[in-house]
Amino acid sequence: MKLALATNNQHKIQEMRAILGDSFEELLSLKELGIDVDVEETGTTLEENALLKAREITRLSGMPSLADDTGLMVDALNGAPGVYSARYAGEAHDDKANRELLLKNLSTATDRSAHFSTVIAVCYPDGKYLLAEGRVEGKIGFEERGNGGFGYDSLFISDELGKTFAEATAEEKNSVSHRGRALRAMLAKLQAEG
Ligand code: IMP
Repeated sequence: MKLALATNNQHKIQEMRAILGDSFEELLSLKELGIDVDVEETGTTLEENALLKAREITRLSGMPSLADDTGLMVDALNGAPGVYSARYAGEAHDDKANRELLLKNLSTATDRSAHFSTVIAVCYPDGKYLLAEGRVEGKIGFEERGNGGFGYDSLFISDELGKTFAEATAEEKNSVSHRGRALRAMLAKLQAEG
């Protein structure tokens, strides 16, 4: 089976390829498909946004497409930034500004508990779709640590790894991460479908 990866985020593409690579004939990025779009995330849930992205890329490519949508839910902020994680500090989707705002808004918080959630959607040209979820628990640090990863990785201390995702190797992050878990759950569903 060939699958289009409905994202322009190179980090996500790398993680998707590392986890799904052996199970598909080809995993094609938007760039490889010559599709130059940034699908607007107008949904109010991760599920809606993942479906929006996968459906649009299926429409444009004519192929089964896989999209993810991810949110960072912080307990002390009542689940914010959540589905709005990409735009936390404004429409510019600026990861550094988002991290700085998160640290500022948590400057007096002693409860640093948080989790990442990912919803993966796979859509087929006939309109059929599958959904899978993944979640990882952790704490928001008081400062950034590590040089790997992207987004909020340098602030997210995984409970299971005992270090930030930016300090972890790609293999370590993928083994426990929200996206790793959601992708493996999707793989199991796709394999069950035959
Ligand atoms: P989206 O799924 O691309 O909408 O991502 C939402 C926000 O979460 C963006 O600011 C991303 O940079 C961030 N994000 C998504 N996945 C991860 C991750 O695996 N680690 C850290 N930040 C992430």
